Amino acid sequence: MPSDPQTSWDALWRNVHLATMVEDGSYGEIRDAAIAVRDGRIAWLGRGSDLPASCHADVEHDGEDCWLTPGLIDCHTHIVHAGNRSNEFEDRLNGVAYEEIARRGGGIVSTVHATRAASEDELLETSLRRVRRLLSEGVTTLEIKSGYGLDLETERKMLRVARRIGQLLPVRVQTTFLGAHALPPEYAGRADDYIDAVCRDMLPALAAEGLVDAVDAFCEKIGFSAAQTERVFQTAHRLGLPVKLHAEQLSDQDGAALVARFGGLSADHLEHLSPAGIAAMAAAGTVAVLLPGAFYFLRETKLPPIDGLREAGVPIAIATDCNPGTSPLTSLLLTMNLACTLFRLTPQEALAGVTRNAARALGLGRQVGTLEVGKQADFALWEIERPAELAYAIGGNPCVWIVHNGAQRA
Ligand SMILES: [Zn+2]
Repeated sequence: MPSDPQTSWDALWRNVHLATMVEDGSYGEIRDAAIAVRDGRIAWLGRGSDLPASCHADVEHDGEDCWLTPGLIDCHTHIVHAGNRSNEFEDRLNGVAYEEIARRGGGIVSTVHATRAASEDELLETSLRRVRRLLSEGVTTLEIKSGYGLDLETERKMLRVARRIGQLLPVRVQTTFLGAHALPPEYAGRADDYIDAVCRDMLPALAAEGLVDAVDAFCEKIGFSAAQTERVFQTAHRLGLPVKLHAEQLSDQDGAALVARFGGLSADHLEHLSPAGIAAMAAAGTVAVLLPGAFYFLRETKLPPIDGLREAGVPIAIATDCNPGTSPLTSLLLTMNLACTLFRLTPQEALAGVTRNAARALGLGRQVGTLEVGKQADFALWEIERPAELAYAIGGNPCVWIVHNGAQRA
């Protein structure tokens, strides 16, 4: 007799409190609950007292009154890179001027040189160390951008490393091509020629190799113009790839409206976002990804327009922006705390920002990000008394178990 998917499960967790995160403005709490998985998906959840009498699970776990949330999602990282810039951090604090650091070959160019020089295996090894730190805090989905190669060969190497991370560790990796991150030194003074190379050679080749899930650019005075960004988006559009954008971080370039016009998944940073940009994002359903780690590290003072985003109903996600120059951050829990202390997000908004809304920012809203029957069985168990504790604490890691695709790890 075939087993009944309604009551016959691979695994069951009893004695947990659920924060399902299924709707805006609430944790979706279910206390004294249970959750069951079958074939890597959530098969049942509800109050423990409502478990069907006929239910059977091959494995049963006692959650010991822990809280259980959707697996956390870091939807914006540059976590694959070689080298770090702690030397520049130290130089700056010792009073060396930014121009002098740049003259010595510092800044993003130093990371480009290091990433080009590293073998694929070396790049994987150094990146895995950071990814493991991130995953230990309940992360089950991770976005990884390219953008420190700025040539076809090295961009490919970065994206291949990102894919290998998803095969080696229990995490779902979404890759983003960020060829239009910075101007490579060999194209100095020829930004349009570089964008030609991105659109004609790099992006089509990497997309054909199945290495690209989405396309991003850095639209900024020190990055690429709106017109250059638009050309990258047109190429992505032609290839059937979704777009996102580093927008309005240091100045208002109308980047948010541009990415919204292409039906973009997200606009990220947004400190200088205008009311028109907010309206365009709301109309297009584009998620606002806020990056408090970079805001903190750069000691910025101009806040993103949180109230305007709330009033317009723009979904807000938050992410580490893990990168060696402006956000050497591998803790999504600390990111939640920074979002609350610096941006005045509520703890509930911060948790939605690393679950439901982060899933939307990656185009994965139907698969992950909430606890619902039919979704991928990705969740984290926490030794906490209430969900707000995740955003409240500075440092420390109350994560006791992580479940990815229905499989538990400590
Ligand atoms: Zn970034």
